[in-house]
Amino acid sequence: MQSRYFTLTDYPEGVPSREIFKLESQELPDLAHGEVRIKNRWLSVDPYMRGRMSGVRTYVPPFELGQPMDGGAIGEVIESNDEKLKVGDRVSHMGGWRDVAQVSGESVFKLPDHDVPEQAYLGVLGMPGMTAWTGLNQIAECRAGDNVLVSAASGAVGSLVVQLAKAKGCHVVGIAGSAHKLAWLESIGVEPVTYKERTAKELGDAIALASPEGIDVYFENVGGTCLEAALDHLNEGARIAVCGMITSYNERQEGVGPGNLFQIVARRARMQGFIVADHWSNYGYFLNDVAPQVAKGTFDYQETVEEGLERTPDAFLALFEGGNTGKMLVKLND
Ligand code: NDP
Repeated sequence: MQSRYFTLTDYPEGVPSREIFKLESQELPDLAHGEVRIKNRWLSVDPYMRGRMSGVRTYVPPFELGQPMDGGAIGEVIESNDEKLKVGDRVSHMGGWRDVAQVSGESVFKLPDHDVPEQAYLGVLGMPGMTAWTGLNQIAECRAGDNVLVSAASGAVGSLVVQLAKAKGCHVVGIAGSAHKLAWLESIGVEPVTYKERTAKELGDAIALASPEGIDVYFENVGGTCLEAALDHLNEGARIAVCGMITSYNERQEGVGPGNLFQIVARRARMQGFIVADHWSNYGYFLNDVAPQVAKGTFDYQETVEEGLERTPDAFLALFEGGNTGKMLVKLND
């Protein structure tokens, strides 16, 4: 059986070009003991993958040039040499950026029986959802009544953060980049604020209008002017969960930090970065909490879907242009 997969031909500087992604194919070897073969139906593309294209180790190893790329995927077992998995099982695993994956059975997660679409396990019930839940509850220690600000608020992580915060009884302001996204935020009771064409001062003024009582929790996905604007409106004892800083992922050089970082001191604030993988032992608690709510329709789960393996790089690159509302996915055709 053939597997078609993407490789990288070069480590990009700045915004990656479509040309560095090469579609290749290979004949898969016979299944070894403990391995499974999976026909992928959904692939995940995520901002963290940009860091893996830099050729240096950050908190995950870089993609190797000329080698199959990988990432989150959902598929169906079509052959199994692992007694715990049988043909037809639906699984989540890390053999993405390809149509057919052959991986160790130990490394796959059999999807539970919640009444949700299977691709939810790449988004609201997968790594991004777990990131939102962990960052808001454990890192920011968000409590009922907090004034919460979220950047990239309509993305995979942000869209769950805003809804979890609303469910706690918080006043929530969401920053996003297009009219469609702002309208969606408003439709779920979040105060929408755009960052486009705004200086940090102008963005800060808009945040102050939307959150007149200041900010107790800032969930940071973006960095740059969003961070600078947020710092000026922190309440005393504010908590900032630093999840990501997508503004810097395509920068050729390290940027200069916000000039008003001293606000952390003045407001006795706490700013803490986190990596969701370090909290994965809590994934079961997260699923128990959030999956029934997703199944009930409590959360408005958004996704943006590109069709066909060939479109995977395009889906990935669109993340840096705001091309997604909710989780960006690639759906593989039969
Ligand atoms: P999103 O679904 O939010 O997609 C990225 C969004 O970021 C875009 O849709 C766009 O929305 C916004 N964006 C892109 N470029 C810029 C820019 N230059 N300035 C401002 N906004 C920009 O992605 P995820 O939800 O998957 O990830 C969100 C953040 O969380 C990322 O920083 C990611 O690296 C981080 N992350 C961290 C994890 C961890 O363990 N710490 C785990 C998972 C994600 P818009 O149209 O609104 O601009």
